[in-house]
Amino acid sequence: MNKISETKASAGAAKGKRQPAEAKLAELKYRLLEISDLMAAEALLDWDQSTYMPGGGAPARARQSATLSRLAHEKSVDPALGDLLDALAPYGAGLPYESDEASLIRVARRDFEKAIKLPSDYVVRASELRSASYNAWTRARPGNDFVSMVPFLEKAVDLSREYAGFFAPYQHVADPLIDAADEGMTTVAIRSLFAELRRELIPLVRAISAQPMTGDDCLHGSFSEQEQLEFSLAVVKRFGYDLERGRLDKTHHPFCTKFSSGDVRITTRVDENYFGDALFSTMHESGHALYEQGVAAAFEGTPLGSGTSAGVHESQSRLWENVVGRSRVFWEHFFPALRDAFPDQFRQIGFETFYRAINKVQRSLIRTDADEVTYNLHIMMRFDLELDLLEGHLRVKDLPEAWRARMQADLGLAPTDDRDGCLQDVHWYAGSVGGGFQSYTIGNILSAQFYAVALASNPDIPREIAKGEFGTLHGWLQKQLYQHGRKFCPTELVMRATGGPMSTAPYLAYLRSKYGELYRLPTADQAS
Ligand code: ZN
Repeated sequence: MNKISETKASAGAAKGKRQPAEAKLAELKYRLLEISDLMAAEALLDWDQSTYMPGGGAPARARQSATLSRLAHEKSVDPALGDLLDALAPYGAGLPYESDEASLIRVARRDFEKAIKLPSDYVVRASELRSASYNAWTRARPGNDFVSMVPFLEKAVDLSREYAGFFAPYQHVADPLIDAADEGMTTVAIRSLFAELRRELIPLVRAISAQPMTGDDCLHGSFSEQEQLEFSLAVVKRFGYDLERGRLDKTHHPFCTKFSSGDVRITTRVDENYFGDALFSTMHESGHALYEQGVAAAFEGTPLGSGTSAGVHESQSRLWENVVGRSRVFWEHFFPALRDAFPDQFRQIGFETFYRAINKVQRSLIRTDADEVTYNLHIMMRFDLELDLLEGHLRVKDLPEAWRARMQADLGLAPTDDRDGCLQDVHWYAGSVGGGFQSYTIGNILSAQFYAVALASNPDIPREIAKGEFGTLHGWLQKQLYQHGRKFCPTELVMRATGGPMSTAPYLAYLRSKYGELYRLPTADQAS
C-alpha cells in the first residue's frame, strides 16, 4: 500500500511523459482500485438491503447508493484517467497480449471509452427512471395493472434507444444494449443462434408433451427451512464453494454478490411446502460464486477482477444447477443423503420418481419456474418482443396482446392476466429494454459446451460426481475460465476453452440425450 500512496503523492510532480511506465501503471491501479472500492461499498449496501435492512432504511439507502454510484461514475470518466490510459497505450502495446498488465490496460481503456460516451444527465435520468419504474412495478404486478406501467415502459424504450444512440453507428438499435451485457454479441448473431435452437426445441417440446406427464408430488409437502438450508449449503460446499470467503443468506430474489475475492456471498429463498426452490437456487448462485471466487486474486480491485460477461456467468450457474445438479450421477450420491436429511418425506420415494420429478418438463406461464427444455422458448419470446419494441414495430400498449399471441404459438398456452404475462419479469420495468434476456440462453448453450469439453479431456468426471466429488470438474473450469476474470472477452474465452466458437450442438445433444431417456423419445435414427 505504501508504494501506491507514494505514487499518488508524487503523481502531480512526476507528471506526463517523464513519469516511467511502472509509476503510471501504479497510478492507474490506484485510480481503478478507488472505483472498485466505491462499487463494492455500493454492492454491500445492496446486499444488506436485500437481506437484513429494516424497511425503514429504504429512503436513506436509495440516496446512499446513488451517492456511491455517482462518485464511482465521476471517477470512471475522470479525464486524468483517460490521459493515463493514453500515456500507457504504447507500453501496453509492447507487452504480450495475454499478460496481466497488457490486459489491464486494454480492458480499462475499453471501460473508460464506454463510460465517457454516456453524458452525466443521461446517467441521472436513467437512474431516476430505474427507481421510479421499479417501485411502480412492485405495485403493478400484484395488482395486475399493466396500464399504469405504460408510461414507464414507453420512457424505458425511449431511453434505451437514446443509449444506443451514444454508441452509433450500429447495425441494430439493440446491439449496444446487448454488447453491454455480452460483449461482442450482436442482434444478428443472437437471432441466428436462437433460430437454430428453436428449430430443434419446438419439436422436442411437442414430442415430450405427447408423452404421459411426469408427476412431482414428492417435492410437495413439509420441509423445514433449517434443514433445507443445511442440505443446500452442504451440497455447494462439496461443489467447492469456499465458506471462508463466502456465506449464504435468505432473500426474495436470490443473487450472488462480490465485495472482494475474499468475500463472495450467495442468497437463496426457501419454500417450506416445496422442496427444490432453495436447493436449486442455492446451486445456481453457487455457480456464479465459484466463478467469482476463482478469479485470480491478483486482479482484485481492477476491472479484470470479475466474470467476463453475463452469458458466461450464467453458463456457470446453469452448469452447476442443471448439468450437474439435476443429473442422474449427482443424485446417485446425494439421494441417500437427502433421504437421511428428510426421512419422513423421502423414505417411501424411489430414486427414479425423484429424478423424474426434478426434471419434469411442462409448458408453463412463468419463466423462472420453467424446466430446462421449455426455458429457452420463454427467452426467445422476450428477445423478439424487445426487438419489436426498440424497432418501433410494436407499441407498448399492444404488448400484452403480442405476449399472449406468442405464448400461444410457442408454448400452447396463454396467460389470462398480465401478472402472469408481460408483467412477470422485472427487467423491462427496471428502466431499460433490450440486452437483458439473451444471456440466459447463451448461458444454457455454453453450460453444455464447456461441460462437453471438460468431459472429453477428463472422462472420469461423471464417476467422480457419482461419488460426490467435484474437484476435477471444478479444477478444469478454474483453469479454463474462472482464473482469467475479464482478461479475455467472451468470444476469446470460449475459443480458448473449447477450441471453437459458441455452438448450439453440445446443448442440443445434451437435451436430446437426457430428455430422450427420461421421456422415452425415439432416437434420431428411429425418428428419421
Ligand atoms: Zn444466474
